[in-house]
Amino acid sequence: MTVPAVSFEFFPPQNLEGSFRLWDTVQSLAPLDPRFVSVTYGAGGTTRDLTRDAVATLHKSSGLNVAAHLTCVNATRAETLAIADGFAEAGVSDIVALRGDPPKGSGAFVPHEDGFANSVELIEALAGTGKFNIRVGAYPDKHPEAADFKADIDWLKAKIDAGANEALTQFFFEADTFFRFRDACVAAGIDAPITPGILPIENWKGARNFARRCGATIPAWVEDAFDKALRDGREDLLATALCTELCSNLIDGGVDKLHFYTLNRPELTRDVCHALGVTPKVQLQNVA
Ligand code: FAD
Repeated sequence: MTVPAVSFEFFPPQNLEGSFRLWDTVQSLAPLDPRFVSVTYGAGGTTRDLTRDAVATLHKSSGLNVAAHLTCVNATRAETLAIADGFAEAGVSDIVALRGDPPKGSGAFVPHEDGFANSVELIEALAGTGKFNIRVGAYPDKHPEAADFKADIDWLKAKIDAGANEALTQFFFEADTFFRFRDACVAAGIDAPITPGILPIENWKGARNFARRCGATIPAWVEDAFDKALRDGREDLLATALCTELCSNLIDGGVDKLHFYTLNRPELTRDVCHALGVTPKVQLQNVA
């Protein structure tokens, strides 16, 4: 079986305890030699400064290739581009460019009157600077706001044509969901790599609520399996097995890169990576 290249998503810490947790997560996953790690940008732009600080610190201290998420929400074009410039000045040239969601409970996305109207405008502006490697979001189960599956793929093509280099997908539960999406993207002329986003499920109730909000289809057999595992106190075991099986089915279908949503908890991600043959790279300076 091909050993995949991996990448990891983190969220920025909100307090000292969160900072230690993030650092532990980074220390635990860094030996797996990720292609990059990314730091999210809170809904509604709520973690703008925390994201900037976490990105700069990880870039300086971890030796990893860091990608900063950036959204259009609640900011003028000038403010958004100034944040991107700040990343470039800190030496970070990888950006995950998103339209973003407004803060919880505030309804649909409404562009700032002087802001980017959508993700394509943001991507065009970032690409126009020539400073960034741009990744974007993609939705194998269809984004809840898309008119239909085809419209969603046409929009992804517009994002790639605007200057994005790679798409990272929302999480999903079955490999066929990804393969159907990948085939439709190829048929639509999308030639950028599409990397599956993988959520190791630490907490089934939280993951189920999140899946419902973001439109990911939850197969009945997954619901049943977690009901039984919760009853038997074996949630972690099931989560590791399901996630490992999903990843190996993806790899059998030709996938060579995986992007893990770690939620700043390294254990399941690390166990799944090990099961897939992604094992720690020995640091020669630590052996000598
Ligand atoms: P888009 O792809 O631009 O739009 C979403 C969908 O709406 C499209 O797929 C398309 O079908 C439709 N659509 C939108 N505008 C148009 C248009 N003008 N014409 C036609 N169709 C249109 N959110 C955060 O707040 N912070 C983060 O850090 C963050 N990180 C993420 C990372 C990844 C890998 C993914 C997949 C999502 C992430 N999100 C994050 C969630 C994301 O912000 C939401 O899913 C948001 O609703 C859509 O953002 P987008 O850039 O993917 O939108």
